[in-house]
Formats: sequence, C-alpha cells, structure tokens
Amino acid sequence: MSSDKTQEMPRALDAAIALGTSGPVCFECLGRLLAKRGRGLTNEERGRALRLLLALEGREEMAGTCWICGDVFRNLDRWVDEAAERVVGFEFDTYLFGARLSVRLAEMEAFVKEEFGVGSSESVKHAFNRALGMRFDQCFPTTTVAFKNPDVSFLVDLEAETMSMHVASIYLYGRYRKLERGIPQTKWPCRKCRGRGCEVCSGTGLQYTESVEGWIAAAFIDASGAEGARFHGAGREDIDALMLGSGRPFVLELVAPRRRSLDLEALSQETNRKAAGRVETTPLRVVERGMVEHVKETKARKRYRARVSFGQDVSELALKDALSFLQGAIAQRTPQRVAHRRSDKVRLRQLYEITGKRIDDRVAELELETEGGLYVKELISGDDGRSEPSLSGRLGVPARVTALDVIHVEGPGDDFGSMDLPQAQL
Ligand SMILES: [Zn+2]
Ligand SMILES: [Zn+2]
Repeated sequence: MSSDKTQEMPRALDAAIALGTSGPVCFECLGRLLAKRGRGLTNEERGRALRLLLALEGREEMAGTCWICGDVFRNLDRWVDEAAERVVGFEFDTYLFGARLSVRLAEMEAFVKEEFGVGSSESVKHAFNRALGMRFDQCFPTTTVAFKNPDVSFLVDLEAETMSMHVASIYLYGRYRKLERGIPQTKWPCRKCRGRGCEVCSGTGLQYTESVEGWIAAAFIDASGAEGARFHGAGREDIDALMLGSGRPFVLELVAPRRRSLDLEALSQETNRKAAGRVETTPLRVVERGMVEHVKETKARKRYRARVSFGQDVSELALKDALSFLQGAIAQRTPQRVAHRRSDKVRLRQLYEITGKRIDDRVAELELETEGGLYVKELISGDDGRSEPSLSGRLGVPARVTALDVIHVEGPGDDFGSMDLPQAQL
C-alpha cells in the first residue's frame, strides 16, 4: 500500500510543478492538489512548501489573482464574519458550511481536475467549506461542525456572492387530548379573507379563535423565540369531536428557534394549566425530524364512542343484528362534507369491532374500533349510499351521529400518567 503512494509521488509532484507554473495560483489551490499528503498540514501550508520548492528550482511565482479559484480563499473572513453576525441571538451547538460554486469556478475546477488532477486532490468546494468551518470554529470554540442535522447551516453562493443561514427546526413529540368540542386541531385561516384579517374574523385572520395547535404551541414559541410552529398530527378528529383516552400523537415543529435548551416539562405544564378544560398534552420530548413522517403516515387504529339518534324507533334486536352485520370491510366514497378538499374516490377501511346499546327507542350509544381513515359519521348515516354497508342502510332507518369522541389512538408510547380520564360531554 505504501509502495503505491511512493510510486505515485513523482507524478503528484510533477503535477504540482505543472500547476504551479501555469499562471498565478494561490497557496490553497496549489496545496489542495496534494491534499491528504503530509499529515497535519493545511492546504495553505502544502501550497507554501510547494511554492518554496519551485522557487529553489528557480521558478518564480506569478503575481495576480488565482486563475483557478479567483481568490475565493482570500475572502474567507468576509463569509465567516457574516456568519458570525447572522448567528447572533441564536443558541446552537452544531453548524455546517456549504457552498454553491459559481459557474466559472465549477468549470475551472473540472478543467484542473482533468489537466492536473491526481488521486489525492481535494475539490475546491470541500476545501472551501472546510476552511470556512475551521475559521468559524475559532470564533465559536464551544460549538462543533456536524454533517448531519446541524443546528445552523450557512450556504455561501459564490455566483450571487451572498450567504444564507438556515436554523434547524426543533421537533417535539407528544399526545394531546381535546376536552371541549368545537376546537379544530390546527389553525384555520378565515374563509372570507384567507388569513389577511377582516371584519368577519375581527382581524385575527382565523376561522376559529382557538385550536389545539394554538393552545399547545404558544408557550413553546414564546420560550424558544421561534418564528412560528407547524403542527403535525397523526390524523385529526372532527372539530365537534372530543379526543380522549391516551390522546392523539403529534409532532410540534418549532421553526427557526432562537433558544434550543428548553425546559420541556415546565412548558408542558404551563400549557396544560393555561388550556385547562380544553386541551392537554403529555410532556413533550425532542425527537428527530423523521418522526413527522412517521406520525403523519400512521394509519393508526382508533377507538371511538358515538351517540347516535334514529329517525324511527329501533328495537334492541334490530340494533344487535345491524352492528354484527357491519363488522368487517367498509367501502367509503369520499364523504360529501369533505369532498371539496379531498379527491373523490372509494376507500376500503376495516371496522374491527362495533358494540352498543340503546339509551331509548331512538338513541343508542356505540363503541367502535376502526382502521385509521374510516369515516365514522358516514358509517352511521350512509352518506346517501356513499358508505357501504352503513348502520342506517342495514336498519332501513335514518341514523346520525350526535356526539363523537375518539377514546384511543394507537401510536408511539407516552402517556398522561396518573391524570384522570375525563368524562365525555354527551
Ligand atoms: Zn486559488
Ligand atoms: Zn377574515
């Protein structure tokens, strides 16, 4: 192995000499041709050594702007200063620099690689990012570079000569319960003004003044100084349905937070205190970004409690027969009430279990366990034949849900501890 390197050496040096006499070339560009040679050396030191070698051979350095990189390595401080300025006020432990080469630089790089390249050369992009990182590190010695999920990242665009900074979101996982009807899961822009604010929404831009998202995000946005939040729920219940039991899994994403070390336990408690009687959450915990997809894609089994009212009297026997008939696969065409925002198609969903009892001749209380995505209201009403089979269809009697609660959603762990299961407001 070492003999290979030794054999390659004269060729690498030849290449360096050829490059060093090709025109004005900076130490960095000269040195990175032999990057990885000479442990512990920087490219600049390699370049200086090669330049000395060439001088001893009587080959003088040509003055001028480096024809390869256009002197981008002389501007390192400008970018590092800008990064250091941008990041003021943001708490971070890890960072990463990236660069977008200018068209000219990319072409020069390709040309040099073909003309002078040897196996060990380091690309200008890699060398540039690394050099920026090393200088930045001297300004922020307690932080470290991270190639995966850095807290802050800087992108230097060498074509536009601009820099952008991206602050990574914080992702927090929990489960929520909704104890009051009429609260949507996420913020809904006002239908009239689409969020701009008008007299209908009293200038708030919101269709509903409250939301689960609003209640849960507030304290966390405040404490983190985030620009805002995104709420990723494992599905959603209807606005008029309660969400009880072990709660519904969600990920709260804090966008561009200024503070990253948060007392999650205290903030969760504060949320529960302020939203008492409406919304509550398990103590949130930090998760990786991938959890968002996981939570959103979960086609979790759900358990519901539904109060149903009938258009005519229904006997206990007829109800029992209909319920046992319903168990199994249900074909549901997109319900009329959501047809304006969902594509119209037929979905097959499992009804794993359905039981219930009559409260009187025209009212029954049911409990059912379903595959995620099954529309319960339509399973009961039939939705004008779009849900098949349905309770109404089997009974031959109009039926509709008057109150619906989700009492369990399957999903990743966490619980409400010893908190009491609240009673549904039927
Ligand atoms: Zn150069
Ligand atoms: Zn409005």
